[in-house]
Amino acid sequence: MFPKVYGLRKKVNRMVKPSYKLGAYRTGGVRVMAAYDAIIIGGGFSGLAAARELSANGCHPLVLEAKNRLGGRAWTDERLGKKLEMGGTWFHWYEPHIWSEITKYNLETTQHVKVETLQWHNGKSVKKVPLNLLYTFLEKRMKTLTDEASFYFPNPYRPLEQQEKLLEIDGLSTRDRLNRMKLTSSEYEWMDSLWSLIFHGRTEEASYTHSLRWLALSMNDWKRLLETFSAFQLTNGTKELISCIAADVKGDIHLSSEVTAVEKQKDETYAVTTQAGETFHGNTVIVTLPPPVIQNVAFSPPLSSVKRQAGKEKAVSRGVKVWVRIKSSPEPFIAAAPAHFPLNYIQYEYEDEDGSFLVCFGSDAGKLDVSNISDVEDAVHRILPDVEIMDCAGHDWTRDKFAGQTWSMHGKNQLTRYHMELNREENGIFLAGDSLADGGAGLMDGALESGIKTAGKVRNYIIQHLK
Ligand SMILES: Cc1cc2nc3c(=O)[nH]c(=O)nc-3n(C[C@H](O)[C@H](O)[C@H](O)COP(=O)(O)OP(=O)(O)OC[C@H]3O[C@@H](n4cnc5c(N)ncnc54)[C@H](O)[C@@H]3O)c2cc1C
Repeated sequence: MFPKVYGLRKKVNRMVKPSYKLGAYRTGGVRVMAAYDAIIIGGGFSGLAAARELSANGCHPLVLEAKNRLGGRAWTDERLGKKLEMGGTWFHWYEPHIWSEITKYNLETTQHVKVETLQWHNGKSVKKVPLNLLYTFLEKRMKTLTDEASFYFPNPYRPLEQQEKLLEIDGLSTRDRLNRMKLTSSEYEWMDSLWSLIFHGRTEEASYTHSLRWLALSMNDWKRLLETFSAFQLTNGTKELISCIAADVKGDIHLSSEVTAVEKQKDETYAVTTQAGETFHGNTVIVTLPPPVIQNVAFSPPLSSVKRQAGKEKAVSRGVKVWVRIKSSPEPFIAAAPAHFPLNYIQYEYEDEDGSFLVCFGSDAGKLDVSNISDVEDAVHRILPDVEIMDCAGHDWTRDKFAGQTWSMHGKNQLTRYHMELNREENGIFLAGDSLADGGAGLMDGALESGIKTAGKVRNYIIQHLK
């Protein structure tokens, strides 16, 4: 069974119509048949998972995706002669939603090569540190954080369970918390670099509660949390999982369809208009856009003031991910540097006949143009002076009109101020996406969770409103 996908050159089979529809309303005695039960804005993991779940329950969804491809911030692209993940890549078996998708579609995964040492470059000298020694060095400090994670998030999938207590710390940045720990200067440098990598942004903007949420999700095993960043990946790319989910959507999917307006009609349905001037009608709307780009869509009536305020907040995750192809074939390694370096984390990934591939991260896209090979070369050479770089490939997600950020990490106060309200339906409009997950917020796992959960809410809404 395939969805009808518009805007793709490849012809896809027509969708199979569901056996029954939930989308008939009576308003003032008039029966209104909207064309779709739900119009889903955005064809990333969240939007596609929502569409699949809705159609599995007899609803008729439409997915409108602005780009000419599905997947959003998960994007397997052919670069440097290889299929490379420009966005979301790694996951771990402790992430329930993505792992169950892999099981469901029987997808092949590749485990990352084991790395035993880390090279730490503090700007003056390089130190090679066996990972187990580094872990011992960090243990005491991380233990303080994991203790707090289990105190504030005893049930990680109920992030606001301890709301009263959370209000006391949600205004703290991760840097604030590190500052209060009385770390030695080298401990501080390590911790600051590590958390800036995790947030893909500056620790002074990174919400401390989000750090604790991720620790709690890894069952307070901080080494496992670190492992997640290079645990498993899909052998044939995230593209394969995206295609599997899309193929199970019994509804319509339109590519190259940037939504510009969502307007409530007199008959209580919604008119959703695209940049090209097409208008689609639906009984409900699911908005799966990353928070920084929601304001590109005009809602009438407007979303609640709290939701609008959330959309105006500056994204925390404004870092870079860039692939480099190098001439040599070193032993697998990780290299790291203080957070202010344009690239502060470099990881060996693959080897091929011409050399090998490294994946590099930095916490500020303003410091590095990932499309400029000489800038990238300079940034890599600050940590690995001897490698010969042949080429590089990256995507600036922070300047991408349809993303505005990398993975969705929260800023100060955002959990207690916005999480509940953003997850609250408003007259048939539902928000979803990785940032709204109860569990893995900011991750592919969280995007799937949020899409699936929202589909359930939409279905209940439709059932309750059937007269
Ligand atoms: C560089 C990078 C590295 C990452 N690494 C990892 C990782 O290793 N592991 C992990 O779990 N996660 C990782 N992530 C995060 C992961 O990719 C995301 O959490 C997940 O893909 C988000 O899915 P989503 O559906 O919530 O949002 P998106 O994927 O952003 O989907 C939203 C969709 O809406 C579309 N859109 C935007 N505006 C409009 C509009 N006006 N009209 C119509 N459509 C619109 C977008 O094009 C997009 O397709 C990474 C992300 C990035 C960017």
